[in-house]
Amino acid sequence: MNLLIFGPQGSGKGTQADLLAEKYNLAHIETGQIFREIGRENSDLGRKIKDLNDHKEMIPDEVTVEVLKEKMEIISPEVGIILDSAPRTLGQVAPVEKMLQELSRSIDKAIYITLPYEESIARITKRYACTVCYRHFVLGKHIEGREDPCPTCGGPVMQRGDDTPDGVAKRLKTFYEVTVPVIEKYRERGLLIEVDGNKSVEEVFSEIVSGLNL
Ligand SMILES: [Zn+2]
Repeated sequence: MNLLIFGPQGSGKGTQADLLAEKYNLAHIETGQIFREIGRENSDLGRKIKDLNDHKEMIPDEVTVEVLKEKMEIISPEVGIILDSAPRTLGQVAPVEKMLQELSRSIDKAIYITLPYEESIARITKRYACTVCYRHFVLGKHIEGREDPCPTCGGPVMQRGDDTPDGVAKRLKTFYEVTVPVIEKYRERGLLIEVDGNKSVEEVFSEIVSGLNL
């Protein structure tokens, strides 16, 4: 089974992708994380990606497709994939599908976890991580104040650099303007499973699973 998963920031798509990967033995391919890893590499591509990330620029479509291809070629053909946030632009749809086809994979379903704009902002700006043990915390739930130490190891906690209201607003604008048209393509083709990300993790997961078993 080969799946695509989409959702705005804070929709919990990473969590759902992990749960689906475990249940259906899929390789979870998270584009953003792959680019963060490559951006730390001391290579031409690494420096190029770091520079684009530092300037909060979108990575060009052909670079995205090339990187995805490299990652996917090494996955055994009997293992399915769940592709997180790709194709991200209309321009990536044809090249990503061509690449999948070359690897003898076809897209079975596309999953869209929806979340109201204000809820994305509220969730993301409350997201903190420990700088020592890297565990994630939610302000008001796991920690009370912004200056509180990590509840696990006592280390200092901080927000991800772009998890500010302005940073989140910019990423959401890109999602709704650039990625939602891609999602609509999969809806037109009858491949879309749309679920409400305001529900609990368990409810969202069980709705996706029933959508896949139809
Ligand atoms: Zn810690």
